[in-house]
Amino acid sequence: MGFFSKEQCTFCDNKVGYLSRKKLVNNEGYICKECEKNCSSLINISHYTKKELERHIEYMK
Ligand SMILES: [Zn+2]
Repeated sequence: MGFFSKEQCTFCDNKVGYLSRKKLVNNEGYICKECEKNCSSLINISHYTKKELERHIEYMK
């Protein structure tokens, strides 16, 4: 796995490039820009676990 390899978004399964993704805590995966839009801009996504973000996205809907 190279530094610039594409990873899968944990939430929508889209492939995300290095610049358009954010890493979740504990290496739990990545979130793409699209899914990030479903999150509040007030939270620091990279400090959340997958479960917490799932709950947050539900809440924001
Ligand atoms: Zn996504």
